[in-house]
Amino acid sequence: MAQTRLDHAVARLNDGEEVRVPFWRIDSGAEGESLLVIAAQHGNEVQGSEVIRRFQQVCEENLVAGDVWLVPFANLPALRHRRSHINLGPEQPYGDDEGHNMNRTWPGKADGNDTERVAFALHEAVVKHCSRCLDLHSWSRFTASATLARDEGLSAEMARVAGIRFIQWRDAPRGNTEGVTIGALFNDSERGSITIELAPQWVISENEVALGLRAATNLARSFGMMEGEIEQIDGSYVEFRRGSADDDTRRHEIEAPCSGLFVEAGLATSDHVAAGQFLGHIIRDDNLRTVQITSPVDGWLWEYGCHRPDCDVALPAQHPYADSGDALAAVIEGSPATRENAD
Ligand SMILES: [Zn+2]
Repeated sequence: MAQTRLDHAVARLNDGEEVRVPFWRIDSGAEGESLLVIAAQHGNEVQGSEVIRRFQQVCEENLVAGDVWLVPFANLPALRHRRSHINLGPEQPYGDDEGHNMNRTWPGKADGNDTERVAFALHEAVVKHCSRCLDLHSWSRFTASATLARDEGLSAEMARVAGIRFIQWRDAPRGNTEGVTIGALFNDSERGSITIELAPQWVISENEVALGLRAATNLARSFGMMEGEIEQIDGSYVEFRRGSADDDTRRHEIEAPCSGLFVEAGLATSDHVAAGQFLGHIIRDDNLRTVQITSPVDGWLWEYGCHRPDCDVALPAQHPYADSGDALAAVIEGSPATRENAD
């Protein structure tokens, strides 16, 4: 049986306070990859922390090659602050990070701001020893869970065994030499990383934790670190490239045709919907008529529910009262290859 050791990455903050970020290392005792699973770089994105707690038990019983490094609370100060970054106050968007967005600080700085110091401590104690990375995040409840990856090499292979319906391909960042994401740190050094967004933030849901655990286990199996079959999704992945005009033609935004209260029809993001399927209705606030909202195409719910920018940090932005033009849903048609297979 593999052995688990608890250790800490220790950072000294600018005011002299010591932060001790706990992590596990599980060693099979045999040669193999070193897999990092890291969660809560943003303090309000906590689904991955429970994924890691469960994955530790899976590893202890099943790891046959390599070692696994598990960091459930990467940004411990932000977790304790109960917000994505330590500098944010009520309703402040992620973009107001002032250098405290941990996932723009890798590999950290020994003499930087407090977030950079925590990243640096983690890099030295954990990250630099690892050859593969699964980075667990969360975004708002209005966007489907998704794998974010590069459409090449190890990152693409990892995305296609993770078992999350949506895969969003992202290009490598350009001209940015310091303060990159942990994914870029790995992918730019041929180590291989994906990010999984387990929606939403702020809560821990059984279904999402199960998805994250399956992804971590699938990755370990694909690297030969555990035995067993990779558990795939039913049907095909829905893949698209961020910012691709081609792929955007498969994406259909459904906006409120009038103002009023949007009432969802009990669907969830990632659900399959048929063309013409009922998605919900609006109770108009001028004449109290009911306006039905339906899907224009056959596809998967990428976004669902009335929302506006910064709905991940502010309750009014999540309010179901829609102005005309507010986003109600987005449906993405299957990849062309998927449609060919279906014919
Ligand atoms: Zn995040």
